[in-house]
Amino acid sequence: MHQMTNPDSAAGIAAPRLLQELGETLQRLRLGGPFYVLLWLLAGTASGAWQHARGLFLLVALVFVLLTVVRFRIRGLPDGASEAAVRARLNGIWALLLTNAALWGVAIAWLLMTAPNESARTVAAISSYAFATAFAHNFPMRLRSAFLALALLYLSTLGAFVATGARFELIAVGALYLLYVSLTLRRSHAEYLQRLDLQDELRRQRDLFEQQSRRDGLTGLANRRRFSAMLDTWLSEVSEEGSRMALLILDLDHFKTINDRYGHAAGDACLRTFAEQLQQAFPAQTELVARLGGEEFGVLLRDASLDEAIRRAEAFRRRFAEHALPLGDGIFHSSVSIGVAEFDPRRDARGDTLYHSADAALYRAKAAGRNAVRAAEQG
Ligand code: GH3
Ligand code: MG
Ligand code: MG
Repeated sequence: MHQMTNPDSAAGIAAPRLLQELGETLQRLRLGGPFYVLLWLLAGTASGAWQHARGLFLLVALVFVLLTVVRFRIRGLPDGASEAAVRARLNGIWALLLTNAALWGVAIAWLLMTAPNESARTVAAISSYAFATAFAHNFPMRLRSAFLALALLYLSTLGAFVATGARFELIAVGALYLLYVSLTLRRSHAEYLQRLDLQDELRRQRDLFEQQSRRDGLTGLANRRRFSAMLDTWLSEVSEEGSRMALLILDLDHFKTINDRYGHAAGDACLRTFAEQLQQAFPAQTELVARLGGEEFGVLLRDASLDEAIRRAEAFRRRFAEHALPLGDGIFHSSVSIGVAEFDPRRDARGDTLYHSADAALYRAKAAGRNAVRAAEQG
């Protein structure tokens, strides 16, 4: 059977949850940049800084433009990225966000201190509150960093109001609004975590469902559905390459007797033991072991000739017949009949003709008295 490798469980690969956080953070990162530039220009015009401190004003504007460019240039990471790389990218994004927030706070405080007029205060207040609100809604992924950003954006505006003797109502409204934004941030953080949990659960269910749709519940082997799909896939590959493939169909002999004598649970235990032995006998990547239903199993062998397949089948039949199955308070010797067929490019355009020739061979093995291997007649 093919060993399914799960890339997420391999050491160091970022979980889907973390990649999702990166994707969402990036998407929202791009949204904000231009607003800092525009509102800075407005605040500068309203305060008159545009005239009396043009150099510094333009320098700050230029830095906001540069930060906006950087926001647009940061890229995501592919699905197989390492956890360390994703975390480093997220840390970089947060450093950028916090730098941006700090610059806004300092710049707006400078503006208010140098030009403490009502017009500048109004633009500064509305802008800082708007940025804080946008932050609380868009960046709830990391609570502590988001709170720090709120403080950087907002407290300097409030502080400058107090320092420059702004009206009490303006300061009080600002303080109350900060409380509201903080509560909003906490709630959106909780909702964000809930949503991630839900999506994790959905992914888990999807993986489980996918696994169940490919595996047999009793033995853990590939089920008939997966077997048929692999038979068709390998068949077309083998046809293209001009290589060989063989099919074994195995059916336990007198299995009904085990059920009748020892009960259905003992029958199930037998099937599991048989499945384990079969898997051990055919472990390679180029070999697929499946439970086709009831007490019937199939093995696909790539790159195997008919002779080699017969030899392997014979070896397995003999070993299984010698192996005693522990049943009830005693032991039981069981046996298996096997039909073998080799892929024939002239006959087997599809999997079912190969299957039928192996099945016909199995029928002849049963007719010959069971505990036997028979090969399909070659045409
Ligand atoms: P033969 O040598 O001709 O193959 O005889 P048999 O008794 O093995 O064949 P038959 O097809 O008559 O019986 C197969 C039995 O396998 C019948 C059914 O009760 C049993 N069986 C099918 N699936 C399961 C299962 O999942 N668990 C158990 N315990 N028994 C099963
Ligand atoms: Mg049987
Ligand atoms: Mg059967």
